[in-house]
Amino acid sequence: MSRVYADVNTTLGKAWYDYDNFSIDWSGPENYEIVRRLGGGKYSEVFEGVDMVNSDRCVIKVLKPVAAKKIKREIKVLRNLAGGPNIIALLDVVRDPSARYHSLVMEYVENADWKRLFPVLTESDVKHYTFQLLVALSHVHAHGIMHRDIKPANVMIDCRRRTLRLIDWGLAEFYHTDTDFHHRVGSRYYKAPELLVSYKRYDYSLDLWSVGCILASMIFRKEHFFRGSDNDDQLLKIMKTLGTEKFDTYLKTYNIHFETEIDSLLVNYPKQPWARFITAENRHLASATDALDLLENLLRYDHRERLTAKEAEAHPYFNSVRLETISTKGDAVNDSGFASA
Ligand code: AMP
Repeated sequence: MSRVYADVNTTLGKAWYDYDNFSIDWSGPENYEIVRRLGGGKYSEVFEGVDMVNSDRCVIKVLKPVAAKKIKREIKVLRNLAGGPNIIALLDVVRDPSARYHSLVMEYVENADWKRLFPVLTESDVKHYTFQLLVALSHVHAHGIMHRDIKPANVMIDCRRRTLRLIDWGLAEFYHTDTDFHHRVGSRYYKAPELLVSYKRYDYSLDLWSVGCILASMIFRKEHFFRGSDNDDQLLKIMKTLGTEKFDTYLKTYNIHFETEIDSLLVNYPKQPWARFITAENRHLASATDALDLLENLLRYDHRERLTAKEAEAHPYFNSVRLETISTKGDAVNDSGFASA
């Protein structure tokens, strides 16, 4: 059972989490125009669009025909989280007259491509954006929801405004105790160990593993910190860093039967000290006091040992960020995103 927020959904009630039984008022597509394609994946095609009523830029996520239940879940999650810190805003839901295509209209973010951004982040940027991601997740988890696909591509960063928005809620799910969840979620390089050993009683803490992977990629300047060629190789990459001893303890603790035909997964690997990954290129980020301690406490096999989002926010690594947040809280911010003089 999750260490935190185990019963939130029971407390909030059926109307909060019962996404299959809520009705949606769909708008027609006439108010929106597509400008250009931004990207796409297994479940959707994403476009930049314009709202013809107010000329505002927006993002139109056209969902590929999937189960109605999945569409409802994404919408319910976005509505429940509306107004939360650093959560992408859902502006409208649109259905074409044939009801074949469903689209989500969302706030547009002037997003910097993370592959170009991460290599130029300063120490204070890394702290600032990681903290903002944790603020989003604290809110999400406190409301009974797991994102389940945290990765750099789902974290929109606007460098000019120094803001961050968490997107793509297509895999998000409501957490309930004593429930098995699908282990085929997430994106390989960011998948927590529990997913790689098909353990289905996972909880919010799987998102914190992915945060650990993102932090490692930022501070060590490695595009993906654990880069496996398939799920077994992904686990192997993790084991070669965290060691096999703790992995075996993890399996025993949760009575997980993990069988593999991959010989290399049966070899003993010692745990690597985090400092081993420090190089001349990343020294200014990775040797920061407390950075490696935070990483050590996020990248744990045992999901109950991982820091929660709230605990991670309180980690000394973020002392300067918390001060900055407190001192700017009262400042007026105008539409340009800059504080007024
Ligand atoms: P997704 O399928 O939701 O991961 O979106 C595909 C791509 O579209 C993302 O990787 C982003 O580059 C872009 N994108 C999605 N949502 C937004 C947004 N709200 N603002 C700007 N770009 C977005």
